[in-house]
Amino acid sequence: MIPAAFRYHRVKTLAEAEKLLAASPEAKLLAGGQTLIAAMKMRLARPSDLVDISGLKELSFIRATGGALVVGAGATHNDIANSPEVLRLLPALAELAGGIGDPAVRHVGTLGGSVANNDPTADYPAALLALGATVTTNRRTIAADGFFTGMFSTALAGGEIVTSVSFPVPERASYRKFRNPASHYAMAGIFVAKTKVEVRVAVTGAAPCVFRAREMETALSENFSPAALNGIDVDPSGLNSDIHASADYRAHLVSVMAKRAVEALA
Ligand SMILES: Cc1cc2nc3c(=O)[nH]c(=O)nc-3n(C[C@H](O)[C@H](O)[C@H](O)COP(=O)(O)OP(=O)(O)OC[C@H]3O[C@@H](n4cnc5c(N)ncnc54)[C@H](O)[C@@H]3O)c2cc1C
Repeated sequence: MIPAAFRYHRVKTLAEAEKLLAASPEAKLLAGGQTLIAAMKMRLARPSDLVDISGLKELSFIRATGGALVVGAGATHNDIANSPEVLRLLPALAELAGGIGDPAVRHVGTLGGSVANNDPTADYPAALLALGATVTTNRRTIAADGFFTGMFSTALAGGEIVTSVSFPVPERASYRKFRNPASHYAMAGIFVAKTKVEVRVAVTGAAPCVFRAREMETALSENFSPAALNGIDVDPSGLNSDIHASADYRAHLVSVMAKRAVEALA
């Protein structure tokens, strides 16, 4: 039996959540609980207070504004996968969201929880980085390039709450992942985004933190075709090696998935 060693608060406003976080340094936000509850069960997290923001309407929105798609932190993966705005403006993001976990996970897991958690095998970080997204919090805005700082770590300060993510709408974008057959997390996931000015390629699942594949970006900027990626070998040093796949295998997957992502746009 797990003792009730924390206080539970179901807040009605963002201001209420901010106040509770400020009052207790060991308090944690609870979004869909898809990571946090499991971490608490394994005693990897022991918050003093759980501040449940899952009912906050002000975080649950998806809207198109001036060349960008702005998604509230409380939007679930299922909301994003089925949103008419996302399907119209950024179908690659809808596809990404629809490929996360299973239906149970997708109906409660949130964009904000995923981004704040920065699991090295999560899908959204690749979309944020490739699209040059901006994370808005209750205090400031942070460019995706500076947001994901390492394995399970981000630029968020204590008590900071992700409120939304703004995704610039690209000319074309595509996401391809080789998924772990059990969890569906990415063993290698590649998001390719082409805008009028540049091509950006972001890789998740393969390394301790999402990263941009600069050599691929340069090659695709000159020639946007799968053939442009021929001969670009991904360096396995620094890639993850675990029971699921070796670093060499992940390096190979990155090349294959990147070509598939570009092929999907050709
Ligand atoms: C079986 C299973 C399969 C999965 N498969 C995939 C997959 O294929 N791909 C993938 O990308 N993910 C996958 N996930 C992860 C899942 O999609 C969730 O996005 C992720 O677990 C975050 O969950 P959550 O939104 O419920 O956040 P929670 O678990 O509630 O919170 C996670 C962390 O983020 C913090 N947090 C939550 N919201 C905010 C906020 N607005 N601002 C700041 N901090 C916040 C919490 O305090 C906590 O530390 C899987 C999860 C499970 C259980």
